Formats: sequence, C-alpha cells, structure tokens
Amino acid sequence: MKVVKFGGSSLATGKQLEKVLDIVQNDKKRRIVVVSAPGKRYDDDMKVTDLLIACGEKMIADEDAVETINIILERYANIAKELDLSNEIITTIKKDLLEVLHADKSDVPSYMEAVKACGEDNNAKLVAHFFNQRGVKAQYINPKDAGLIVSDDPGNAQVLPESYDRLYALREYDSIIVFPGFFGYSEKGNVVTFSRSGSDITGAILANGVKAELYENFTDVDAVFSVNPTIVSNPKGIKELTYREMRELSYAGFSVFHAEALIPAYRAGIPVNVKNTNNPTVPGTRIVATRNNTNGPVVGIANDKGFCSIYISKYLMNREVGFGRRILSILEDFHISYEHMPSGIDDLTIILRQSQLAGKNEDEIIQRIKEELQVEQIVVEHNLALIMVVGEGMRHNVGTTARAAKALAETGVNIEMINQGSSEVSMMFGVKEPMAKSAVKALYKEFFE
Ligand code: ASP
Repeated sequence: MKVVKFGGSSLATGKQLEKVLDIVQNDKKRRIVVVSAPGKRYDDDMKVTDLLIACGEKMIADEDAVETINIILERYANIAKELDLSNEIITTIKKDLLEVLHADKSDVPSYMEAVKACGEDNNAKLVAHFFNQRGVKAQYINPKDAGLIVSDDPGNAQVLPESYDRLYALREYDSIIVFPGFFGYSEKGNVVTFSRSGSDITGAILANGVKAELYENFTDVDAVFSVNPTIVSNPKGIKELTYREMRELSYAGFSVFHAEALIPAYRAGIPVNVKNTNNPTVPGTRIVATRNNTNGPVVGIANDKGFCSIYISKYLMNREVGFGRRILSILEDFHISYEHMPSGIDDLTIILRQSQLAGKNEDEIIQRIKEELQVEQIVVEHNLALIMVVGEGMRHNVGTTARAAKALAETGVNIEMINQGSSEVSMMFGVKEPMAKSAVKALYKEFFE
C-alpha cells in the first residue's frame, strides 16, 4: 500500500485534479490520498489557507469579511464547475465554512485553528466527491474519526504516539481514502494544525500508521534540486538522498519537503518519493535510509539567511567548569534557542536565528554574559547567511573542506565561520548575507559542474 500526498499547486484547478485522479488510478497500491488546500494557480495568486487566515482575522476584529469569504468559496466553486461536479458539494463546503467562521471566538487561537484547517478539510470532501463522480470509489475520512490525535500546540502540533496504532485500521477500507492534511485533533477534541506546509507531515504520519511500502509526495517540481534554482539556473535534480541529508538541506532552506515530515517516515523506515504531478513519469527524488554513493561527496547545497552570531572569548575558558552551561542558561532565561556553537580553546561562537532576538533587549543579554562570566571580548554580528554543503559521501572523501574553502576564496568570499558537524554529513559556512549568492554559485560550480 502507498500513501500519496498532493500539495496545494496540484489541487489548485480542475485540470490539476484530473491529473491527480489519473495518478491515483495508475497504481492500485495508491490507497490513501492526503490533500492540501487549493494552492496558488499562478505566482501572485493566494493560497486558500492564506485567504482563510485573513478571513478569520477579519471576523475576530469584527470587520467585514464577506468579500474574502466569497473569494474562498469561488476557489472551490471554480474547481467544481471545471469538473462538472454537482452543486451539492459546494453547498456542503459553504455550510461548513460559514459554520466554522461563525463559531464561538472567545478562544482566539482555537478559533483560528479551526478556520485554517477547513481549507484542507473541505478540499478532501471535494476530491472524494470528484473521484466518486468519476466512478472511482473514494471516501473522505476526518482525522478525528481516524484517531489522529496531536498535542494541543496551535500551529505546531506534534502527533501523539498512540495515534499510529489507531491509524493502522485505515488499511481495512476497500475504497480509496481521501484524508485532509495539515491538522489533527487534541485529546480535548479541538482542531490543532501542524506548522505551515504541514500536509506533508500528515502524509508521513499516515504512511507510518498503515505501514505503507512507500510515501509519495506529489508537488510541482521534477525533483529536489541540488541547490536553490533561483540562485543557480537549471540545477541538477537529486535522484536519491538519505533522511539525514534531507534533514540537513531542509534545515537551511530546502522547502520542497517539510523537515518534520521526515521523522514519522524515518522511524518506520518508509522511503519517501518526491514527484511531480505535472510530470508523473519522471522518477523524482527518493529519500531513503541508506544509499549508494554515486554522485561524489556532495549531494546538495542549501543556504538560508537571517542569522547572527555572538562571539565570546576569555583566556583559559577551556579550564572553567560550567562556562558553556552558564552562557546557555542566560539564553534560556530570555527564552532564546540557539542553532550552533562552534568553539576554540578560549573562545566560542553562538549562532542563532535573528528572529530569536525579536522583541528582546540585546544589550541586556550581552551585559549579563559580560558580567556573569567576566568575558574578555564579546562581539555580536548580524545579517549572516549559513551555507550547508551536504552529502554522506563526505565521510569517505578526503579534501572536501579544502575544495569548498578554495572555491570560496577564489570568489573573494570571506568565511566568517566554519563548522563541520560531527556526523560528517554536512559542512556549514557562515558568510555575510550579501556574499551568500556568490558563495553558493562558487560551491555549486566546484562540486557539480
Ligand atoms: N495549506 C497549508 C499551508 O498552506 C498546509 C499545506 O499546504 O501543506 O501551510
């Protein structure tokens, strides 16, 4: 049995839904279909989820939301019209949307969760209706009925382990299951969403629950690219990568597949296949536990901006018991989570996402570190980009770091910091944000061209 997930762009129009039906019909093992809400039809279009958020916010502020409601309903109605579906489905969707929007607003986060989730929920109903109308027996299943129970953490739900055993029962259905992505229910019975783009997570949880042989994730690109295609044009696609490689790449900006969605698939050892709805015969990218190293040391290069570093030095730091712990506990007091901490004998650098400092008094943090640890030097640097050079092959190859450093030097990029994870699956370079693009291009040229 295979679990297949379709992203928002694969479900944005009736024409796209025809492709989805073809794909599902083409392989009898595709028994569980997880759907996103209708996504963008063109570059500056709006995703239904974003429309729903805007609409919910208007309702809470007691503003007129009629126009937005109509735009949302029109998105579904246009799809239904294109596919010649009966009116009944649009009546169902309208009734549900209005009910959710006019529900009790006293608990704002909870209200917004239900509003956000109804994009996928109604889309699942529409897709099931469409399949049936085309003679393919399908059934919409609600996450609550299936037992997908999650933590009560709005916008950041985590699946509760007991869900998996319950979801196993989904194997028993003789019709195709159409399951809304992006949300589950708390133990109290409230809708709680995963983080944004979280339908990938739902797909992975179901794949784990039913012990699928494969989790297929259909999107709108032929493969996971080896580098950001807005920086390098026509980059190579990746045929196969390991869960660990994917994790490292998505950490620093690869967004084709949600980083959190790897965990349930990885735990059950289920391979993930990222494929293109618009080009389904292309094999796509497989994410697996182990792979043969056929492509040299590096599989991909990721980059992300918005980091800053705190450099701290103190003579004989290495001899001072508890030094690192005390710094980290100061950060903890400010509720700041850090990303990396490369260190030397007498110095260390703490790298964090700049967003962690938002709304906090940076001077106060620095002052506390200075006073409580009696440090000699402390320097904060803003606007750093991190570049991750990722590949399992690095472990067995000599000189990958040297090649990367040389490529950067030849392009005139100053490396602010370098960190090689102990896993040897990745190498991280910190550079000033304006240098990031040149750095990525130089590294791509070195390892891929
Ligand atoms: N529709 C949700 C979002 O836009 C979830 C998803 O598409 O996976 O974040």
